[in-house]
Parts: sequence; structure tokens; C-alpha cells
Amino acid sequence: MFCFSFWWLLAFSGSTFAYIEIPGAYLAAIRQDRADDQSAGEYNYDEQGDDWTGTCQTGVNQTPIDLIFDDSKIVSIPRLRFYNYDQALQTPLVITNNGHTANMVIPLTRDGQRASINGSLLPGDFEAQSVHFHWGSPNSAGSEHAINFERYDVEMHIVHKNKIYDTIGEATLHPDGLAVLGVMFRAVRRQSSQHYGLNKIFNQLPRIEQYKSNATITGRLTVGQLLGNIVTGEFFTYNGSLTTPDCAEAVTWTVFPDVLNYPRRQIAKLWNLKDSRKNPLINNYRSLQDTNGRVVYYRAI
Ligand SMILES: [Zn+2]
Repeated sequence: MFCFSFWWLLAFSGSTFAYIEIPGAYLAAIRQDRADDQSAGEYNYDEQGDDWTGTCQTGVNQTPIDLIFDDSKIVSIPRLRFYNYDQALQTPLVITNNGHTANMVIPLTRDGQRASINGSLLPGDFEAQSVHFHWGSPNSAGSEHAINFERYDVEMHIVHKNKIYDTIGEATLHPDGLAVLGVMFRAVRRQSSQHYGLNKIFNQLPRIEQYKSNATITGRLTVGQLLGNIVTGEFFTYNGSLTTPDCAEAVTWTVFPDVLNYPRRQIAKLWNLKDSRKNPLINNYRSLQDTNGRVVYYRAI
């Protein structure tokens, strides 16, 4: 195990990496996540995804969309239920620059459970798999969804897999395969942040500026900490797709209109990441897609 994880991380990062033992199951999940990302082939954000092919081009239930309160259907929806979101995750956690985003595979909790969600209009129980971000640049907002025609500075995606499917790859083949939570960040001038969980991630971003580089996060982190203090009782929900190739139409989306205020100096660390071409990894959001008559539901408290 020692050599395996050590050498794998060396090979993956292509640079020296302080020795930290990564549990085998977590390492396997990271490798699978990397393989899933690479199976989509090369892609970039030069045209905000308008040049992507396949379902990205031909799909009719694509994401992101503009979420418009006045156009949404306000119905009685059960609340979203969170399980093990307050439980400490196994550490170390690994955050990776995969050339498209800063991505962190979510391990089991320290007592071997999965953080998961159900309720709302979700077609089952969904287990947290990974978290990543979409962002703009020093002079552009980079959320994927817009809310009432407004884009925010950052959009965080917490990706969950329906537990009836074994892998993300299998889940993407089914309309009930995935559930993603979208959280908007607004850059604020405040210097300090109470969002300790997010700080742990963002503090490592300077170490993953290069493509394929990794950093580890230790200490206590829960999935719930990533949500900061946002209100989770109100949200938009609709059926859509992955926002990266192959744009599989397998996602029940939940996007919260409450925005997480986060220091601009932390968000600025995202703008320093580089893609596989050594270009700045900025504006990594997809252009807005047609709703094609889809119903967007809104849960009000
Ligand atoms: Zn995303």
C-alpha cells in the first residue's frame, strides 16, 4: 500500500508530493473519477461548450438554464433530507486540478457511512461522490445556472449518485442516475470567512495551479460544511444534464437561490489555475441551454 499510493500520486501529480498514505478504496475512487473525466475526451471552454458534440449538441434536457422564479412552478415539495452531512469525512482528502475544474472526490465518513440525500422530488437515495466548482475571471461571473437572469461569481456542484447504480458511469446512462446540488457564491470584500470547510479546500488551491496536480486536506471536514450557512429549504429543481461532455441527461438538479458570500481573495485563487494547455483555467462554465418546455419547480418555505 505504501508504495502503491505513493508512486501513484507521484505519477499523477508529476511533481514531488509529500508522503501521505491514501486509503486504497479512496484512491480507487479517485482513479475512477479521473477515468470518467478522461473518457469524455478532450474539451475546453473556448466557446463555453457550444462546440461540444453528441448529446451536448442534440440533447433537449440540457443544463445549465436560466432559473426564473416567475416562470417556475411553485408546488408543495417535501424538504430535501441530508444524511451524514454533519459527519467528519475520512482524511486525507485529495483535491485535483483535472484541467477543467478543481475536483475533490468525497470519501466515506470516519465511521464508514456515505453522506447522502433524498426527499424533494429526488427519485431515490443519492450518495455524495464529488464536489467541484465553476467560475469566471477577475472581470466576469462564472456560475453555470443563472437565477432571474443573474450569473454569480462561482457555482459549486456536489455530485450524488443514485445508490441503485454501482458507478457514476452506469448512473449517467439513466435519467434517475445522478442528483447535483448547485450552490452560488458571491465574492465579497470581507477578508475573513467563517466557512472553515470551504477554507480548507480553497487554501489548497495555490498547490494545484498546474494541470494534474493534487493537494491533500487533513483535519475535520464534513460535506455539510460546504453548504456554509445557506438556506436549504428553498430551491429550484428540474431534470437536466451534466454540464460537461458527454452532457448525459441523467441529473435531477437542485439549485439554491440563497447565495453564499465568500471572500473575493479566496475566490481569486480559482482564477490562477491552469488547464492542460497551460492556459488560465477561467470562465469554465457552459452557456445557457433551452428549457424546451421543461418544468422548473420551486420549493418555498
Ligand atoms: Zn459542474
